[in-house]
Amino acid sequence: MNGGKILVIGASGQIGIDLVLALRAQHGTTQVVASDIRPSEHPALLDGPFELLDVMDREACARVLQSHNIQTVYHLAAMLSARAEQHPLLAWDLNMKSLLNLLELAREGVYSKLFWPSSIAVFGPSTPRHLTPQNALCEPSTVYGISKLAGERWCEYYHEKYGVDVRSVRYPGLVSHSAPPGGGTTDYAVEIFHEALASGAYTSFLEGDTALPMMYMEDAIRATIQITEAPTDVIKLRSSYNLAGISFTPETIAEAIRVHIPALTVDYAPDFRQTIADSWPNSINDQAARRDWGWDPKYDLAQMVEAMLTALKKKILEVT
Ligand code: NAD
Repeated sequence: MNGGKILVIGASGQIGIDLVLALRAQHGTTQVVASDIRPSEHPALLDGPFELLDVMDREACARVLQSHNIQTVYHLAAMLSARAEQHPLLAWDLNMKSLLNLLELAREGVYSKLFWPSSIAVFGPSTPRHLTPQNALCEPSTVYGISKLAGERWCEYYHEKYGVDVRSVRYPGLVSHSAPPGGGTTDYAVEIFHEALASGAYTSFLEGDTALPMMYMEDAIRATIQITEAPTDVIKLRSSYNLAGISFTPETIAEAIRVHIPALTVDYAPDFRQTIADSWPNSINDQAARRDWGWDPKYDLAQMVEAMLTALKKKILEVT
């Protein structure tokens, strides 16, 4: 490939596995090095180069970058919203120090291009909740959101001051089947599929009418690769782009699953994650991403539900 080799950090996580799969399909297995602090049992990662790497260790990152001649880094290691509320200082350390390590290594010219994801968690209770614009007021009330907002400022700073080629999107909640979600507030939207198939019953930790911006993983991976491989001059925002897919509530996703599994029952037992969800937008305006680098989501709710159920049923058949 033209852009040199790729390193995915946090490759054993929910997004990392699907991203490694997609990048290896596009660029070839040996061109994409997967890395994480923990090994993965997923065949996609065992197929090609894998490095056990703690992203907090800057020297170790430099060694991996240099030994594989990496040009592009996708940095996915982080502590997610719900877990971060339980370990605020650890979350701040991981989310900030890891990003600064990689921004510094890019500034030093050890590699050329960084993708780092932000989140809808940068918004807070004072943000307009409906079709939240790109430049809406950001006063996050979670440690995760605070770390993502600070990260966006650092990304823009390193671009402006040092010319670091950094690209970022504010992911909504992501729904996928390859790997379990990593402790976020939108994990219910993955769990409900597993329980619908396993027991036909699910207890949601969010209220039934809590609408949140969400996206099917295939769209998220396409957006991630598209923005990272876009020509430099089309990327006008070096903080992070709003990104939208689908907005739904626990009630509406349950209805969509009942089209395929009519007997599904859902109870509601909101926990501390409800407060986090209540501070986030219910839908996102992503005009800037559409205008600048051609973002165009493909999956609506019905298509996502069908794709999820088909993939999970196939997995169940494979293990039985
Ligand atoms: P995840 O928790 O599933 O995966 C994160 C991975 O990072 C894990 O495999 C973990 O082992 C690894 N990791 C943790 N500490 C590490 C360290 N010190 N060194 C190396 N690896 C380490 O998370 P995810 O859902 O794949 O999210 C990836 C990124 O996308 C994160 O920045 C997250 O904030 C962001 N994001 C995710 C969502 C979502 O819905 N999944 C939404 C918005 C933003």
